[in-house]
Amino acid sequence: MKRFIVGSNWKMNSTVEESLSRIDKIEELLGDFKAFPIFILPPFTSLDAVSKRLQNRWIKFGAQNMHWETAGAYTGEISAPMLKELGCKYVMLNHQERRVYFNETNRTSNAKLHTAFSFMLQPILCIGEEDRASFSKTKNFLEHQLSELLDGLKPEEIGRILFAYEPLWAIGESEAAPADYIEQVHKIIRDKLSTICGPEIAKKTFIIYGGSVDLDNALDIALQTDVDGLFIGRAGLEPEKFVTIIKAVY
Ligand code: PGA
Repeated sequence: MKRFIVGSNWKMNSTVEESLSRIDKIEELLGDFKAFPIFILPPFTSLDAVSKRLQNRWIKFGAQNMHWETAGAYTGEISAPMLKELGCKYVMLNHQERRVYFNETNRTSNAKLHTAFSFMLQPILCIGEEDRASFSKTKNFLEHQLSELLDGLKPEEIGRILFAYEPLWAIGESEAAPADYIEQVHKIIRDKLSTICGPEIAKKTFIIYGGSVDLDNALDIALQTDVDGLFIGRAGLEPEKFVTIIKAVY
């Protein structure tokens, strides 16, 4: 079994009650499964309850976003110390929906990455092109995006980032990106990481795939050499599907 991790971004779904009952169901279906790490990213309003519910459990959790400043006049925002206080292990940054609907950029995500490391939150860093284009265009886009996002970070910090390749054109669709395409892109990402922080760290860094992962494509994608995990949206809201995928890729 190669190293692997599976996570789910619940997006703007679930009241506290729904979050807790989904966790109950997932745990029931998982049984004593501990073959690889699993994480969930519930909405902010569920984090406190989820934190209490998942104490000393196999499933880890994190937040879907945060601000780069640690406190102040930023109405409606959530800071790193607030997430840390709730026991979040992860914070997701730079998700395509944050970029498209809330104008987030490589620059703001870079500032958030620096803050995440000051508070020992492990970043799940989403990267990926917007349109399906030629392979060379995608390569240029990703190399440029990685340079901007990782600016000023130490190599060992970069090695702790969980990279999630999520092309916008494959999110919320009926089909994921093709498995062989994902494999090639993950290689591009790893090569670029190698030039930024050296081959040793690049080799160890986790690069996972997200975008319409479901029962019919999860195994194919998971079997690719350079895919270290799956990041699941819609299918993660259904405990049966989520756990079936987890058990299928093991
Ligand atoms: P999806 O979402 O699986 O519903 O396409 C993926 C994501 O945005 O992480």
